[in-house]
Amino acid sequence: MTSTIRGFSTRAIHDGQEPDPRTGAVNIPLYLTSTFQLEGIDKHRGWEYSRVSNPTRDALEASIASLEGGATGHAFASGMAAIAALVTMLRVGDHIVCGDNLYGGTTRFFTQVVAHHGVEFSWVDTSNPENVLRAIRPTTKLVHIETPTNPLMVLTDIRAIADICKQHRIPLSADNTFMSPYFQRPLELGADIVMHSTTKFLNGHSDGLGGILVTSSPELADTFRFVQKCTGGILSPFESWLILRGVKTLAVRMRQHDANGRRVAEYLSKHPKIHRVDYPGLASHPQHELAKRQMHGFGSMMAFETGSRENAEKILQRVQLCINGESLGGVETLISHSATTTHASISAEERKRIGITEGTVRLSVGVEDVEDIIGDLDQALEAI
Ligand SMILES: *Cc1c(COP(=O)(O)O)cnc(C)c1O
Repeated sequence: MTSTIRGFSTRAIHDGQEPDPRTGAVNIPLYLTSTFQLEGIDKHRGWEYSRVSNPTRDALEASIASLEGGATGHAFASGMAAIAALVTMLRVGDHIVCGDNLYGGTTRFFTQVVAHHGVEFSWVDTSNPENVLRAIRPTTKLVHIETPTNPLMVLTDIRAIADICKQHRIPLSADNTFMSPYFQRPLELGADIVMHSTTKFLNGHSDGLGGILVTSSPELADTFRFVQKCTGGILSPFESWLILRGVKTLAVRMRQHDANGRRVAEYLSKHPKIHRVDYPGLASHPQHELAKRQMHGFGSMMAFETGSRENAEKILQRVQLCINGESLGGVETLISHSATTTHASISAEERKRIGITEGTVRLSVGVEDVEDIIGDLDQALEAI
């Protein structure tokens, strides 16, 4: 049962997850089966083969669709597999308008794989909707945005871009990984597709990869189902089950991420050795008003400027609680050096244009006691 009347936390715990009709099990069983007994020729109980659909994956897909306010979800083996599925619908000569600072893996995939298949790209700063409008061609078949961006937290006005896309009848997809549906719901703002790396906040425990596409369009849903069946890059039942378990606590985790994020950003913004803090919850963020309008919280992703690679290195060496590592959105605080991790595959020139320096450090603030996170950063910052 999917209800739009019930609140977010209730839906996170119940939607797509009715007690098992056979046993009453409160949690969706892990259906480790590749195939299903048929009832006769061309007669089945709803499942035939797990590449096409699996009850554990179905539950996850229904759950995330409900949280994003969409009709259907389509889960893939990773965020990248979800993006790969998204562009399978394009053909030679088609054109994509996308953000000029997408997740590094997406940029790599678009430039080094998809472009070789005859799809053309325009890379624009989507924080100004005019740039998107100007880049649209008669052959444009998709606009793909990410907001906020990694790691400088630049926002794109989803509604403004959606209006442009609607006028031109072009589907808009939004990578919502950084905010999760708890804080941002692009479909409500007019997007046609929401994409997630469920590896991050949705799973929330840094113990499994996954990706999902959510849509309200029956045509797009058919396309994504067809891609799942054709290319098989689907999410396994076990990972589906892990993410379902993570999603049950999404609301409480996100509230704590947000509370901790605000405190850490505030602390860093007052630290004499930090040159700049990029966090949409700070009044100093140039798009603070848009953040308040478009998001229901500010989350826990942020970047801060330490001034040099040496300073960044010293901090990363000295942290004890915060873990120097890639990825984000887990319960633990992760800290990383953007220029040599997420943005290592783009040129120094390109990094400079985006605003990432050798001294840029990214934080994914976890849900530990915030005093401990700040205490750890404080002792690490003494090194510079
Ligand atoms: C991690 C991430 C991806 C890719 O997801 P994987 O699960 O690692 O394949 C895509 N977009 C964003 C914003 C991400 O953070």
